Parts: sequence; structure tokens; C-alpha cells
Amino acid sequence: MSLFDAPLFKDAYEQLTQAADVMGLDRNILERLKYPKRALQVAVPIRLDDGSVRTFQGYRVQHNMTLGPGKGGIRFHPGVDLSETAALAMLMTFKCALVGLPLGGAKGGIEVDPNELSRQELQSLTRRYATEINMIIGPNVDVPAPDIGTDGQTMAWFMDTYSQIKGYTVPGVVTGKPITIGGSLGRAESTGKGVAYCVNFACQKLGMTIDKNTTIAIHGFGKVGVPAAQDLSAQGARIVAISDVSGAVYNKDGLDIEKCYEWTRQGKYLKDMEGVELISNAQLLELDVDVLIPAAIDGVVTKENAGNVKAKIVAEGANGPLTREAIDIITKRGGFIIPDILCNAGGVIVSYFEWVQGLQNFFWDLDQINGKLHDILKDSFDNVFDTATKYNTDMKKAAFIAALARLERAMRLRGLFP
Ligand code: GLU
Repeated sequence: MSLFDAPLFKDAYEQLTQAADVMGLDRNILERLKYPKRALQVAVPIRLDDGSVRTFQGYRVQHNMTLGPGKGGIRFHPGVDLSETAALAMLMTFKCALVGLPLGGAKGGIEVDPNELSRQELQSLTRRYATEINMIIGPNVDVPAPDIGTDGQTMAWFMDTYSQIKGYTVPGVVTGKPITIGGSLGRAESTGKGVAYCVNFACQKLGMTIDKNTTIAIHGFGKVGVPAAQDLSAQGARIVAISDVSGAVYNKDGLDIEKCYEWTRQGKYLKDMEGVELISNAQLLELDVDVLIPAAIDGVVTKENAGNVKAKIVAEGANGPLTREAIDIITKRGGFIIPDILCNAGGVIVSYFEWVQGLQNFFWDLDQINGKLHDILKDSFDNVFDTATKYNTDMKKAAFIAALARLERAMRLRGLFP
């Protein structure tokens, strides 16, 4: 199997090489960044509730660890494979470098639909996976976190399993834990909050204000989409459309976000809501809105539909929701893209805060966390914007260039062993 089998890896690789060309990156540094440092594939056999045994495929990929321990989520999704995980690990390297964290890039996952498993089966799956990848993780080595299909409960099982192996509690082995067992205030909302901050920064740069005339469509009303919608609607913006796997709901006067959240929190599908117009996910992406936030999964805007995207600002809440070709099409049309490694970095930034708090056993208050999150994202946004101006390039390449500049300095200083 080739890493290039996944469109996401091909895209990440091409974005890397293009950014390297624009900035004149040292060829030897580029050579080291093209492929992951280490990849582990594991079989994860579990006993199902009916007594039978089923084996799932699991992965943990560490792309680069020059800046510090590996960092990145664990995804439970049917589309997970080695090349997708490698692509996501590469994006984590650039994300952590861009926002100035002392962390490298990693990612893990299991090819599974978590909705098909019971709670007990999920616990077995998580614990067995944690045991299988135990030899390459640890608070100073590689620190997992939630991603699509995983949450605080998954992290709690993971931390407990690692701690059982060690014989003592190790809170720093994962982030995104529930608060009771060493999680950080603000971590659950941090990715969406960061998206909302970035939308504000983009509006400021473009001379737009956020008020009742600002229309926003959000693709994916989950861990990222919900807090982004809550923050932006609290600021007065009109969230006209949101979606889940069942479809999208639309109201030109703005949706009642708290009501929608109450509905989905009960495990109900948006398509079953009353008093809203139903549209398709594809239609949502093409709405004539000020801001589009694709916050579900990668590859939803491609060269096929990018020409129909009308939003002035496209904020990549998910990892890789726009393909490289889609980015070119939207940028040429004059759309402003907030690249994923900046836009959704709020999650890993507060993960970093959680890791630090866990290592020190000293916990911060929410204002401190959100204040620091805001400041890091503001500096990073300005850095990407200034880099785009300096190199006369788009925001996506600029984000890669800014990240590569930091990595290049660190890799040169550390040198190549032996
Ligand atoms: N899974 C999230 C991401 O893609 C968070 C990773 C982390 O907190 O380590 O950025």
C-alpha cells in the first residue's frame, strides 16, 4: 500500500512541496518532512457482546518529533487507514509548529464505525488499542487526544489502561480527558472557540463586522461545529444553516442554536426537527453566505463543487475539508480561506495547556485558558496573514510556510543524527 493511496496524503504532500518551493525551503529539510518518522499498524481483537471475536485495524503514526513529543488525536471511523492517518499526522506537525507549541505531529485511529459497537465493546476496543500502541506513546513520547468518533470517555479508558500498565496514574499520557480525572477547563469547546476567534480575526482583516446581517453556514454540528455556532451566534451572527449526517436545516432569519443543540444532544437527527427547512449537505456548502465553516470531515469541497461555493470566508474547522484544487478555485474567485492548521488549532492548543497542567498537577481557571488561547491564535493568524502578504501567496500556503520556517530553524539546530 502506498501512502499516496489517500487523497488527503497526496494533498498534504503537495501542499508541503508547493509551500517549500515558494519559500525556498532547504531541500534537505524538505526531504526529511515528506514521510512519517514512524508508523505502527496493530491488530485490535475484541470479544463482542454476542461472544464472537472481531479484529479491527489500528494505527499510530508519528510524523515528526523535532519540536517535542508527538501530539494528535485518535480517530474511530470506517475510513481510517494508514495513509489517511499519516496525512493527518503530517498536518499535526505543521499545526503544532505554526502555533508555536513544543510538540511534534502524530495521529492514530481504528477502522471502525463506533456507532455499531456497544459501550462495553468500545471500552474493550480502546483498552486493547492502548495496550497495542503502548510501546510508542507516553507523556514525554507521544500524547493522543480525541478526534472524530472519540471523546473524553475514550481518553479516560485510554489513560486508565496506560496507568494500569505503569502501576500509577499518568494523566499526561492523553489530553481531552474529563475534568474530574485531570482534564482542562475549556478543552471540550476549544476547537470550536478557536474557529470562532479566527472568523473574527478574518472579518477584521476584511473590514467586515459580525452582527445580525452576518450569515454563517456550518457543515457538521458536532464537537467543533456546536461551540463555533454558539460563540458566533452569541456575538450576534445569523447562523442560517447547520448539518449532521442526516442532512441540513436552514432558516434565512437564523436558527435558534441552543434549541438545535438541545435536539442533537438527545441523539436526535436534525432532519427530524420541526419548523426548519430541510436542505442537503451539498446545498449547505453552496449557500450564499458570508462565512462557511466546514467542520465535519475532509474532502467535502472538491474541484467539482468549489466553483459553486459563494462564501466570502471559508473557515476550515475540520482537517482538510477543502482539497488543494478547491482551495485554488476559491482563492482565485477572491474567497478568503482560514486554513485548517490555523483555524482548528484551538483544540491542540488547549490540549497543550492540559498536558502542562497534568505534568505540574496545577490547574488554571477558564479565563486564563481562553485568554491564552485567544492570544496564541491572534499572533498565529497575524503571522499567517503577514506571510501571505510577504510571499504574495494564499493563506493555505502561507500557513505551511510559517510552520515550515519554525521547523526549519529547529531541525537545523538539532542537526541530523548520526
Ligand atoms: N484531534 C485534534 C486535531 O486534529 C486535536 C489533537 C490534540 O489535541 O492533540 O487537531
